Amino acid sequence: MKDKLAVLGGTKTIVTPLETYNSYGPEEVAAASSVVKSGMLSRFVGAWHENFYGGPKVREFEEAWASFFSVRHAISVNSATSGLIAAIGAIGAEPGDEIIVSPWTMSASATAILVWNAIPVFADIEQDTFNLDVNSIREKITKNTRAIVVPDIFGHPAELGAIVALARERGLKVIEDAAQAPAARYRDGYAGTIGDIGVFSLNYHKHIHTGEGGMCVTNDPALAERMQLIRNHAEAVVGPKGTADLNNMIGFNFRLGEVEAAMGIAQLKKLERLAADRVRVGRQLTDGLVGLTGLTTPVIKTACSHVYYVYGMTLDIAAIGVPRTRLVEALSAEGVPGLINGYTNVHLLPIYQKRLAFGSKGYPWKHADDSLSVNYAKGICPIAENLHDTRMMGLLTCSCQFSEQEVNLVIKAFHKVWNQLSLL
Ligand SMILES: *Cc1c(COP(=O)(O)O)cnc(C)c1O
Repeated sequence: MKDKLAVLGGTKTIVTPLETYNSYGPEEVAAASSVVKSGMLSRFVGAWHENFYGGPKVREFEEAWASFFSVRHAISVNSATSGLIAAIGAIGAEPGDEIIVSPWTMSASATAILVWNAIPVFADIEQDTFNLDVNSIREKITKNTRAIVVPDIFGHPAELGAIVALARERGLKVIEDAAQAPAARYRDGYAGTIGDIGVFSLNYHKHIHTGEGGMCVTNDPALAERMQLIRNHAEAVVGPKGTADLNNMIGFNFRLGEVEAAMGIAQLKKLERLAADRVRVGRQLTDGLVGLTGLTTPVIKTACSHVYYVYGMTLDIAAIGVPRTRLVEALSAEGVPGLINGYTNVHLLPIYQKRLAFGSKGYPWKHADDSLSVNYAKGICPIAENLHDTRMMGLLTCSCQFSEQEVNLVIKAFHKVWNQLSLL
């Protein structure tokens, strides 16, 4: 008699809950406490002053980040959401400009567009990497298109070469949302450094973090300066600073604190090792799950590396004969943590369905006639919708430490469930 499935009343494969992912250690404790002891928890001044660019740890963190990623400028912010807002403002987006974005991303990739009264336009994704499909992007370009926000989703770089080439041909800017892909390789560079601006997240769900935080990178000094202004009360600074280009110089307070920056410096030193450890988890899972009927493990495209923020699988439901929800139920009952049923279809969120962002009258869409015709109906991104509704199942790789023994247990649970699919 086979081992009875836990969902049917049998014994769980994973009895003790797995250890939570943790990228912190004594280095971060020392870094944080030395800043606290110094008494200088921030040095930013929201005026044209030598401290307009922040305190010593913020600057040191930015220099270290720029050097690690081989970019000219790194601009720290208090979240990737803030970073995306600064990036869209920095490229000079006009109200009514269309900016193409993926539906398969965290909502902020698109809301950052709305913040400048620009209009998100959703293109479909690739079946295998879940990243924006360059052919779908091409179809969505209109005379109003200004930029493309490209997530490197789950930790695998988007088809950046082709996307940047298309953008150059059509005069569009590329903003990479690399929140999930720190240290993922794309050809001879890193994800996040291929477009005009790249944005990283340092929130506590990510590979490395500062609790909350983010980082923008660019090789363009003008874009860097505009992001620095938007980060720190631009309108109060541009006059004395002598900034001539006033477009989108509405300043926010997106500043990172010195404690976070000091911890970030320590985290950055571990990034390569921590990312390599997630790669270890992803590889071990793929080796262990290969051959399970109807289950496709993540692909890695040529000249890319995958840092597995999410281990994204696709299911051939007809071949498996069990709906995804039931599979996730059975696996969760075995004690497998961090499973997700689909990911996200941002275009279907109420804000787009109702076209209500600012106030109650339909702004920013009402701003321009063309914006009213932008379509958010179900059906515009069939691949993303189908994957989300029925076929994609993921494992949040940064949710647990996933030691080698723990990954073996996860694999064992998958095999146990797959051996008894007919009973589900
Ligand atoms: C986490 C995440 C963000 C937002 O990051 P915050 O730092 O929490 O604002 C944006 N985009 C993607 C793809 C993310 O995964």
